[in-house]
Amino acid sequence: MKLEPVIGLEIHVHLKTQSKMFCGCKNVSEAAEPNRFVCPVCMGFPGQLPVLNAKAVEWAIKIGLALNCKIASHTTFARKSYFYPDLPKGYQISQYDEPICYEGKVKVFVNNEEKEIGITRAHMEEDAAKNIHDGETLVDYTRSGTPLVEIVTEPDIKTPQEAKIFLEDLQRTIRYIDVSNADMENGDLRVDANISLREKGKKLNPKIEIKNLNSFKAVERALTYEIARQTELWKDGNPPTKQSTRGWNDATQETVEQRVKEEEADYRYFPEPDVPPLKIEDELIERMRQALPELPHEKEARFISQFQLPDEQVRIMVEDRMLAAYTEDVFSEILEWNEQRPDVEARNSVRLYKLAANYLLGDFRNILAEEKSDFKNTKVTAENFAELMVMLHREEVNRNAVPQVLRIMQQTGGDPSNIVADKGLGQVSDDDQLRRIVQDVLNVNPAEVDKARAGKLQVIQFLMGKVMVETKGRANPQKVQEMIKEELGLVNDE
Ligand SMILES: [Zn+2]
Repeated sequence: MKLEPVIGLEIHVHLKTQSKMFCGCKNVSEAAEPNRFVCPVCMGFPGQLPVLNAKAVEWAIKIGLALNCKIASHTTFARKSYFYPDLPKGYQISQYDEPICYEGKVKVFVNNEEKEIGITRAHMEEDAAKNIHDGETLVDYTRSGTPLVEIVTEPDIKTPQEAKIFLEDLQRTIRYIDVSNADMENGDLRVDANISLREKGKKLNPKIEIKNLNSFKAVERALTYEIARQTELWKDGNPPTKQSTRGWNDATQETVEQRVKEEEADYRYFPEPDVPPLKIEDELIERMRQALPELPHEKEARFISQFQLPDEQVRIMVEDRMLAAYTEDVFSEILEWNEQRPDVEARNSVRLYKLAANYLLGDFRNILAEEKSDFKNTKVTAENFAELMVMLHREEVNRNAVPQVLRIMQQTGGDPSNIVADKGLGQVSDDDQLRRIVQDVLNVNPAEVDKARAGKLQVIQFLMGKVMVETKGRANPQKVQEMIKEELGLVNDE
């Protein structure tokens, strides 16, 4: 019997609008003080009337468009009833049979293979309050009524890894369109995963819903655990016959049964009489479409084709919106520099992009972290960064000196050519001078010279190090290596 996992995800996205979904209370991701931002509407007092937040509607449309969904021209709200202290009205205002966004699809790349995951729907709803169990049960209503968009995928996901990649992509997209902070640890992004096994090609079976997933890693691990657990049940001839909810326990790395899930009928959905049906004009949808930025996967594809950088580097660049924007600025400076010099070969651009990418993702990123800055607030302008790369490309500055120059640029906002001149960090480009230093080093290290001549080539690294010390790191390492080999009478293999 061949079993295959069938996985679907439900993701709640907390929108970062100014006010809550149906009242004017301030909408915060995490309240410092419990019950700080509340009013009769979001506390569910009888007779209070909800008023729909227009911004939340716009942002729900943006999410739908980013997920290639259809946007409903007519959408309605419904009451989802259940009884719990965090839900003072006894129902949550959600959407049921007429969600605002439906039938979407997104592409993800899993092990370099493109895969499409269907989006069943994305609908608006209000959040519940928060129960705090601290000896007694306390309720914080600040979260009550804050705006959510719930995204539901089709059960198209086949592996835990796919689920994780989908979620990482979704988080990036949500951040790019700037509708939520999408931090899992703050509860801006909350994921439930549904999983069942089925005999290949046969009917779907009752699904197990996993809750308490507080990181993408937890999603991947919990699904992996469930596949193993359910496989055992199947082997024992005892597969799950009822839907149930399990919680992920991060400490023990296992799922624990919480309850047999309510059937849909238990929620007694019915149309919300206090929020009228919503007609969505094409003009609004078009305006939201225009407002969408270039989405991360589009940017990725463009970076790869335009700048010829490796996939993994581009992925990291695009992950961080500020880094992506900064990179783009640096690259356009490089392009400009190149265009002013029609004499240089075109491939110089590609070489400079690669050089810049390495420093952006390596030394410069580390320096920014150490100096408690970032790609938006850095004192290093894209123009200065590009200039330093050009200097490196032209061998006007030594590779070893670049991190130092970058750090000074970050601290002072200075121009790289001035810094290099002031600090004497220019490359020793005088060949005669360099050759004299190489000869001196060889003269005072006769034992190493013998070893190198006898074929111990790693000794050359040691001798190079000596030359670099003598030149205070200002020599071109490649040139030093060539000279050492020449002086020792060894053939250069390049
Ligand atoms: Zn309120």
